This record gives sequence, structure tokens and C-alpha cells, in this order.
Amino acid sequence: MELADLRHPELLTPTFTGMGLDRAQTLRKDPSLVERRLRSPASRAAFAGTEGVLLDRAGERVARRPLSPEWRQKEKAILLGLEDDVALFALDLDSLAAGDATALGQAGEVVGLRDAGARLSHAEGGLAAYMAALLNWHRKHRFCANCGAATEPIEAGSARRCECCGTVHFPRTDPVVIMRVENDGRLLLGHRTGWPAGRYSCLAGFVSPGESAEEAVLREVREESGIAVHDPVFVASQPWPFPASLMLGFAAYADDGVPAAVDGELDRVEWFTREQLHAAAAGRSASLKLPPPISIARFLIDRWLAGGGVAAS
Ligand SMILES: [Zn+2]
Repeated sequence: MELADLRHPELLTPTFTGMGLDRAQTLRKDPSLVERRLRSPASRAAFAGTEGVLLDRAGERVARRPLSPEWRQKEKAILLGLEDDVALFALDLDSLAAGDATALGQAGEVVGLRDAGARLSHAEGGLAAYMAALLNWHRKHRFCANCGAATEPIEAGSARRCECCGTVHFPRTDPVVIMRVENDGRLLLGHRTGWPAGRYSCLAGFVSPGESAEEAVLREVREESGIAVHDPVFVASQPWPFPASLMLGFAAYADDGVPAAVDGELDRVEWFTREQLHAAAAGRSASLKLPPPISIARFLIDRWLAGGGVAAS
């Protein structure tokens, strides 16, 4: 792929963005309308589980299947939204009868979400990410964090309510800042402990309670490298449902300095020149491997290589 132009489609928006469904926020508040959609023969179901997302046989789209009678339960079927006025529900592959899951797998292919993101269009990859994020949350929030009693889905799955104390729980999304740090034509990248040799990526970290995203950028870079950065500028964000993150991509300038891995999360952190990064992006470097194209880290690096400094992020 030639990335010489910032208008290149793959540089405009990150993978896992571009989901085209109407999320049906009004319809899902009316139980009778949801029930009608559950009963409609036109409605469809899509499937994901801990192993991945069910794609159609060609592997080019998220599979859509008619809703079988046993799937038409509001405890099981989560309304994703409307697609050309056809309701699309999500079902957790891990909760289906073994025979159903096997039959679905034989009629399509269960693909890990990272592989699906690399293979699908942005719209279909965005749908896969949306479905995985929502099902991940439902799978892990069957009990109330306030009192420990069972919770049940409400509003066709956009939230859960405790049957005992009435607390309403909403899907959780964890903000993570990820930074393209630039100094004098170089970018600061780190190697995480346990990664393959030569694999480097942008520094990143969770936003802490009581902290802005911009403050998190400054703190994380200082903690992970000892480098001081200033004037962080937001570039783009990306849903990253592994299991529930929202990546907030920033660009920032650093004063000159010798980086050092100081907090134990990274074991190496270094400056890389534009020439080194160009060679790695083109697969011509034996010593440097960049993150995969589906990641916002790679999106930030590729945009910089194509000419987007902080001012033109
Ligand atoms: Zn409760």
C-alpha cells in the first residue's frame, strides 16, 4: 500500500469505525416494538463469542441468519439496530445450544476479531467490533456490582437492571490514550515486555480517574520513557473491544531527550527516524516491526509518514 497521500482511504478513519446501523435508541425503549421485531420473519441475527465473530461463507461479511424460535427471547437476543429498517439482533455463540453453534460454524466461519478487522470492510469491521463489545459486556455483567443479585437486559440490551436493588448498569468503555510523540523528525516508540524482538509501537495507557485525556498523555509518556511532551493534539479514536477499550489517538511534541524504560511495562523505548519507519512500513526492515494495520498505533504512524505532523494530524 502506498501511503503518500493523507487522503488515502485507509488514512482517513481507523479500522473498527464506520458501523452503518441505526442503533434504534427510540425503538428499543418500547417493549412492544422490540417484541414485534423479535417475531418478524424479516429480522436477522448475528453471532459472536469469546472465539470471535461469525462471518458468512465467503468471509467477506458478518453473517446474518433468520432468528430461530428459541433465539427470540429478550434475555438472549440483543438488538444491535436497524439495517435498511430490518432489525439485526446479536446472539452470544457461547450461550447457544452446542448443536446450534456447530451448525452455524459449519455454515460460515468463526474468525477472531483482529483477523476480522483485517479482512472486512470498515462498515462490516465496525459492526463486528460493536457486536463483540456489547456481548463481552453482557457476558461479564450478569450480576449486580452493587448487591450481587442477578441482572437482566433492558431496552433490548442497551443496559442491564438489577432484579433486587433496581440499579441500572450501562455498558462500560475504558478510555486509553495512545500517543504519536515527535521530536526533530523522529517518533518515540516502545517495545513491551514479552513482545517479539523488534516489534515497537506507540506508547499508550489507561486514563486514570480524575484525569483528562491530555493529562494522561503527558503522564504516560513521562512514566514510560522519562520524556517530557507538550501540546497534545487529538487525532482520532477507535473502538478496541479487547475487551472494552476506546483508544484515543493523540499527537504531541517532545523536547529532546534520551528515552529510558522506567516503569517496567516497556523494556525498550527509542527514537526512530522517518527513514527507519518508512523501511519498516514497507516491510523492508529486518530489525523493526510496526504494529498491524488494524491498530490505531499504525494509523497514527502511517499518517505521520504520509505527511501529517502535529499541525496536520
Ligand atoms: Zn443490585
